[in-house]
Amino acid sequence: MRIAIINGRVLDPAQAAEEPVVRPVFIEDGRIVAALGADADRTVDANGLYVFPGLIDAHCHLRDPGYEYKEDIASGTASAARGGFTTVACMPNTLPVCDNAALVHYIREKAARQGKARVLPIGAVSKGQKGQELAEIGLMAEAGIVAISDDGHPVETSDLMRKAMLYASQFNMTVISHCEDMSLAAGGHMNEGVWSTRLGLRGIPDIAESIMVGRDCQIAGYTGLPVHIAHVSCRASVRLIREAKARGVPVSAETCPHYFASTEQACDGYNTLAKMNPPLRTPDDVEAIIEGLADGTIDIIATDHAPHHNDEKDLEFALASNGIIGFETAFGLGFTLLVKTGRMSLKQFIAAMTVKPAAILRQKLGSLAVGAPADVLVADLERPFAVDKRQMLSKSRNTPYDGMTLVGRPVLTLYEGRITHDELC
Ligand SMILES: [Zn+2]
Ligand SMILES: [Zn+2]
Repeated sequence: MRIAIINGRVLDPAQAAEEPVVRPVFIEDGRIVAALGADADRTVDANGLYVFPGLIDAHCHLRDPGYEYKEDIASGTASAARGGFTTVACMPNTLPVCDNAALVHYIREKAARQGKARVLPIGAVSKGQKGQELAEIGLMAEAGIVAISDDGHPVETSDLMRKAMLYASQFNMTVISHCEDMSLAAGGHMNEGVWSTRLGLRGIPDIAESIMVGRDCQIAGYTGLPVHIAHVSCRASVRLIREAKARGVPVSAETCPHYFASTEQACDGYNTLAKMNPPLRTPDDVEAIIEGLADGTIDIIATDHAPHHNDEKDLEFALASNGIIGFETAFGLGFTLLVKTGRMSLKQFIAAMTVKPAAILRQKLGSLAVGAPADVLVADLERPFAVDKRQMLSKSRNTPYDGMTLVGRPVLTLYEGRITHDELC
């Protein structure tokens, strides 16, 4: 299929351009080309719209295999495509855990058959994510994992984390660290502070996260091996990462839209849609997250898309599951709260959702350069829209942003030249 996208304002941070430029983008046989060999099968008039590389999510949960009632690879990637994503990296906390090559093959084959986005599996650090012995990292690397993580759980011992970094780097991968000191966090349900006291809920202090961030930065500094910090939520972590980077420690970091869009106050009324791990923090933490994104301390924005069935959220707060879905709100939340407010440039924001996550996952993706896979997002950055969870394509509906007015709407997504989301025709 030959597609011409004309009249759009094109911005590709991988190609050093600072500002969007009106120019055509041509696609043939699934790749970006300089010119079409024959007439286009479809011409997309992107007048008034923006054209970016397809978004890349370095952290999501597709729940497949084992929890397909929450999400599966088909529904998860359809939701991702609607949100403008063309590549998603899925965490291994499935049932069974993705800690061996057979599971990696299962995910890749199912994604090749049913996926509306490229699915990059992340393998477990430890067998069964139990934190005891290392998983079959070499065999999983051969099978196609792009990183290792015990996400959902911390790697509790420093020794195992050191070994994980060593193994991962031998296979040109990074360890993605879910930072949580369980001795401080266990039994907690929300951020420890004024609101947890007011609501009478047991809290999780920010140091439960930052102590582990500090530990991982120290191990990375000592070994010289890279580590990527997942879902940074608080000022204390941002400060530690900034200091480590200044010393040349090979640490990278992500945050998620909810950590700059919401505070702990969202838990008021025992709203379980505001329950996540790490928990939503204070306004000062939100400010620190935005400062960290603006100065590059936090490299990327990932969704931590975490689908749950209603029955797992429609419970008393202490019993409800952690996490929210994120694919279909991430771009709008980021554009509205970071770019429209002037806190990040459009280029910084797009880079944090395209070429930078690609680099952390060691993938040559996230660019509209000639020859690259035709992963493209066309977005409307002007017309406000209301988030409507009934329209979402995820199997789950656990979002606290239903009804919120946002600007920044993906209207067309192409994955390897295939149209995976289309609001234009
Ligand atoms: Zn996590
Ligand atoms: Zn996660």
